[in-house]
Amino acid sequence: MRQRLRTGFLAAMALAGWCVLNPLSSSQIALPSQAPSPQTPAAPGAPEKTEYTLLFTGDVMLSRAVGARMEAMKDWSLPFRLIADTLRGADLRYCNLECPISDRGSNLHHLYSFRADPRALEGLTTAGFNVVSQANNHAYDWGPEALLDSLSRLRAAGIQPVGAGENALAAHYPVLVNVGALRIAFLAYVNVDPREAAAGVDRPGVAWLDPAQALADIRFARPLADLVIVCPHWGVEYAAKPSRDQVDLAHQMIDAGADIIVGSHPHVTQPLEDYHGHWIAYSLGNFVFDQESPATHRGLMLKVTVRDKKIANVQPMDIRINSNYQAALAPADEHSAQHPMAEKEPAALPPSK
Ligand SMILES: [Zn+2]
Repeated sequence: MRQRLRTGFLAAMALAGWCVLNPLSSSQIALPSQAPSPQTPAAPGAPEKTEYTLLFTGDVMLSRAVGARMEAMKDWSLPFRLIADTLRGADLRYCNLECPISDRGSNLHHLYSFRADPRALEGLTTAGFNVVSQANNHAYDWGPEALLDSLSRLRAAGIQPVGAGENALAAHYPVLVNVGALRIAFLAYVNVDPREAAAGVDRPGVAWLDPAQALADIRFARPLADLVIVCPHWGVEYAAKPSRDQVDLAHQMIDAGADIIVGSHPHVTQPLEDYHGHWIAYSLGNFVFDQESPATHRGLMLKVTVRDKKIANVQPMDIRINSNYQAALAPADEHSAQHPMAEKEPAALPPSK
């Protein structure tokens, strides 16, 4: 009962926010004009574009050895040089940004604390990212000041952050993006510690993945957009498969109205699942990261084709990370022989509790 009351309260807060604060009026939610896009406005009388391509990538971390390499080579777009053309060929690009981008805050000395140099923003704009998730276990490594600074720097660069904010309402609020005639709602969550990073009623932070709240958020977002995309940062690092709890929650998210689930955090790729015609990517693995294990040097990028405002096709593309921490498409002879695209449910899961 308490859970339901809290959910109802937050949903009411969200509705109040929509009506009173209306932070995303229709004139503001269109992708900023400076965001790179191959699209040109349709000529008057020309048929409206009905097909769009969206690209989703995994974890992007621009601190530690990645930051040092960019600094040493005096190239703040280095991680994206080999794949920028591919990315910019799409209509929208998304990644999980696994660090704040800031020169503020104080190191909270988590096991690993990441904070990227503000010059690293250049790489994200070179690659053309439009939406990045800050709902992860490193966005708060340098505390609320660095997180809020990161959010404002991203927005100033024409990139919409999702899954974090100055309070829980802002962090849970769907980010609405117009791509041509297509309207997309993004929601992002994390349930990987530190729990102290969770946004509160009066506290900046990330959107904590409380299942009941996430399902309420999805139902709230559903009528606002053509597509609802949910990006959870979850699971067990280096695990080959998601847990039964993750699978159950992903199914509930689809049942609540999500069109596709794009997960991250394990640093390795996990199976994709077709659940009632909706794709669930439990983990896309890394896209730009500096870990040592070879399994962390490969990831997946999802190419999602949207036709007549519905997801028509999902194509996984193999990614390799080289010794300069650059993401690139895998050579043709290294493509996975078979992606687990047709699995109805990831196999060999423990039974439901
Ligand atoms: Zn993570």
